[in-house]
Amino acid sequence: EDAKSVSTYADAVRAGMDAGLAASGGMNADYIPYLASIDPNLMSVAIVTAGGEVHKAGDHDYGFAIESISKVFTLALVMDAIGPDEVRDKIGDSPTGLPFNSVMALELNNDKPLSPLVNAGAIATVSLVPGESADDCFGKILACQSAFAGRPLTMSDEINTSEQSTNFHNRAIAWLLFSAGTCYSDPMRAVDVYTRQCSTLVSTLDLATMGSTLAAGGVNPLSGKRVIKEAYVHHVLAEMMMEGLYTGSGDWAYTVGLPGKSGVGGGVLAIAPGKLAIAAFSPGLDPAGNSVRGQAAVKAAALSLGLNLFRGA
Ligand code: GLN
Repeated sequence: EDAKSVSTYADAVRAGMDAGLAASGGMNADYIPYLASIDPNLMSVAIVTAGGEVHKAGDHDYGFAIESISKVFTLALVMDAIGPDEVRDKIGDSPTGLPFNSVMALELNNDKPLSPLVNAGAIATVSLVPGESADDCFGKILACQSAFAGRPLTMSDEINTSEQSTNFHNRAIAWLLFSAGTCYSDPMRAVDVYTRQCSTLVSTLDLATMGSTLAAGGVNPLSGKRVIKEAYVHHVLAEMMMEGLYTGSGDWAYTVGLPGKSGVGGGVLAIAPGKLAIAAFSPGLDPAGNSVRGQAAVKAAALSLGLNLFRGA
């Protein structure tokens, strides 16, 4: 913990793999049938720097469900469309202190989601994506995800069908939002599009590239294309710092000190602003819904590079 020795990116990826493989105890998400069936031994780590350098190890090509990490990129899309002030006003900007799919968090705050990175806030964010139809809105989201990744991403029909046929809890959340005036489109359309955006397939390398676009101030370092206004990137990162790992966000801030985001598909992403992004993947989750091995891997890689924002230069 105390040693702040700075290793090479290749060493950091290796340190991440080692720490990930040494961690144990996670369980695949089982409330989405598809996710329960993924091989729990899959493990990978990738780093993409703001200058476009790529380092990767393990099953870095394996395509998994982006799940809640999608919330980050749709937030970026909506911020670009309506501006950060309206996002804060309509959704909120603070952590909930409750699980990612909490209904109680809504009741405790007059049905305002608080954070765009929990399910309620993410469904409200999706409801703000401009578009005439569900297909239209999802098309914009997939194009945005693809721009962040620097290649055309696709949605998995199998994952989407698995989630659409079991997402009753999220539909309940959307109706609660709608009744309080905090869902800004048809609520079932918002859940449909939200569920599709969670079913996009990404590799660990895609995820690291998506993160590196935020690290580089909104320009994808591999494609060279601007994806989000530079002036909005730090707002997205602030939300990740506060709520990116749900009830694990405190531990994450305390030990890693970087904005992060997890998904129940097993992905974990961390951003070192101005420098790089680290992504890791392994399906086993802790009770908060964060990949056990993914967290260990990102934590070890970040530590080996001395990236904690709160430790200064
Ligand atoms: N699609 C999942 C859900 O809505 C995403 C949750 C997550 O990754 N934390 O429950």
